Amino acid sequence: MINKQLWSLFCRGRRKKITSLIFILIILINAMFYVSLLLYNSIQKNKTKPWYESLQYDKDSYVDNSGMRVVVGHYVGGNSGGNLSQEVVHSNNYAPVDGAGEGGRPVQLSQREIITARELYPLHSYNILVSDKISINRSLPDMRSESCRNVQYIIENLPTASVIIVFHNEAWSTLMRTVMSVILRSPVVLLKQIILVDDASDRKYLGKELEEGIRKLNKVQILRSANRTGLVGARLMGAREATGDVLVFLDAHCEVTNGWLEPLLDRAGSDDVFICPHIDLLSDDTLAYTKSIDAHWGAFSWRLHFRWLMPSTEVMQTKTNHPSRPYPTPAMAGGLFAVRKSLFWRLGSYDEGMVIWGAENLELSWRAWQCGARVEITPCSRVGHIFRRHSPYKYPGGVAKVLNSNLARAAIVWMDEWADFFFKFNPSVAAIRDQQSVSDRMELRNRLQCKSFKWYLENVWSQHFFPTDDRWFGRIRSEKGSCLGVSSGTPGLGGPAAGISCGSDLDLERLLVYTMDGRIMADEGLCLQQGNGRAVWKTCNESKKQVWNQKGPRLKTPDGLCLTQLISTSTNGVGDPLTAKRCVSDMGQIWHFERVPWR
Ligand code: UDP
Ligand code: MN
Repeated sequence: MINKQLWSLFCRGRRKKITSLIFILIILINAMFYVSLLLYNSIQKNKTKPWYESLQYDKDSYVDNSGMRVVVGHYVGGNSGGNLSQEVVHSNNYAPVDGAGEGGRPVQLSQREIITARELYPLHSYNILVSDKISINRSLPDMRSESCRNVQYIIENLPTASVIIVFHNEAWSTLMRTVMSVILRSPVVLLKQIILVDDASDRKYLGKELEEGIRKLNKVQILRSANRTGLVGARLMGAREATGDVLVFLDAHCEVTNGWLEPLLDRAGSDDVFICPHIDLLSDDTLAYTKSIDAHWGAFSWRLHFRWLMPSTEVMQTKTNHPSRPYPTPAMAGGLFAVRKSLFWRLGSYDEGMVIWGAENLELSWRAWQCGARVEITPCSRVGHIFRRHSPYKYPGGVAKVLNSNLARAAIVWMDEWADFFFKFNPSVAAIRDQQSVSDRMELRNRLQCKSFKWYLENVWSQHFFPTDDRWFGRIRSEKGSCLGVSSGTPGLGGPAAGISCGSDLDLERLLVYTMDGRIMADEGLCLQQGNGRAVWKTCNESKKQVWNQKGPRLKTPDGLCLTQLISTSTNGVGDPLTAKRCVSDMGQIWHFERVPWR
């Protein structure tokens, strides 16, 4: 009996164990099946998805979370190598490693190499060690959209191209890779010549060694400028030698991709347009070729710094419906564009008074639009460009002097009353306003019977955030004492809105545009927006959340809430938080509009 009971107990225990074992086994098998399914899926996905799809944009310098905003207007320069030895500065260390950077992939360095790369970085403001490891003939991904790939061009009907590449102390491998990418990816019959213009470089490897590099390449020639003139002078030198129908300008650190030339020539054939490629990113660190966001066009801030911004809703709509069609842009980035030679000269080429670097892209864009031509981007021509955070070369006379005088020239000739706005808030530029002799450019504007800047703002860039005669401009001060403003951070990135100290009449950070439809706009195209709990600065859009109606001394949202300045609870100096709250009797809801004349 006892035995029987024991036996049954034992049996029950064993059965339980077996059942548990089977149960665990089933779970294990299921888990294994699930994991292999996941693995299989990810392998399949990777098979159909090219490697670069998984790359993120360089968020800090390139894109904000609402769209895209590249800060390319870097106004820092003059660092050309620090303590590096002359031998290092003047030597070409191109030594391609098998497979490195192929397909536009990033190149990773060893810990040791990273240290050297950092030391060498100031030479070019990009990773020269990586550039020297990548073959000058490397392959690149095809980033074009399906619809772009399907466009058929009748090659015989396209005009021919003179590609002009200007450089000052560029790296040998980067420059040669630019040249080789053009040779490898341009239809032979369309490429008339490649003209390299050396803007008085002093690096030894850009002498004989460069000539050796291009000796066997058909169609490539070098012109050398005796003096450092800057990119305008150098490009003009190239343009004067060009025999092709269309001038195609490229920076010396670009890589063009499959099918880049045809869409440019196709559009440039029409003789009324400056046509830019879609500029992709070559990482300054790894030289990876990365797609840049589709929806972008070029414009500029109150201080005339070039910016990439979200295109108008209308352009976005056309882009969606016709993804391969060129679309207008208020301004071009500068380095990369094509134009029919006859149009380039007829429209006054460049302002030769502009030296070294800067502002020539705005001058050209305004001139094109105001004088009857257009500036466009074709999404079907994709060219990689190394965007640099700093200029690696010297600015004779100093960065500020060079840039300010170029900016002053562009503003005086083309901006009409907005030139006065620019000068009023940039006293250091105003100080050299009278030193500019621009009579020949004014004459050009008259001769071509160009339209006004007002016309440009209204017709080419109606989404602009500049003050106008039908917009209020000034400071908005709360009864509590602080002012609405955007505290400086990454330009155009926005963030939580706060009441900050009011500053002087010249503080652009506190000066705002108030539009007739109730938008409070700051520089860089930021609008005050009602947020979740806290008001924020965001890229201006058409949302109702950006509407603040002036009702007596109050600013009311369409739902009847009042803009309120709260008392700051923290002492971290970021200012007093702002929010939209139920309207009550509260000093923080009383706002004084202090007009400041904008010109
Ligand atoms: N460049 C030049 N002379 C100068 C300054 C610039 O020939 O005094 C060339 C430079 O080598 C490059 C092009 O002009 O090929 C545009 O300059 P950069 O790339 O520095 O401008 P970014 O693209 O950064 O705006
Ligand atoms: Mn460049």
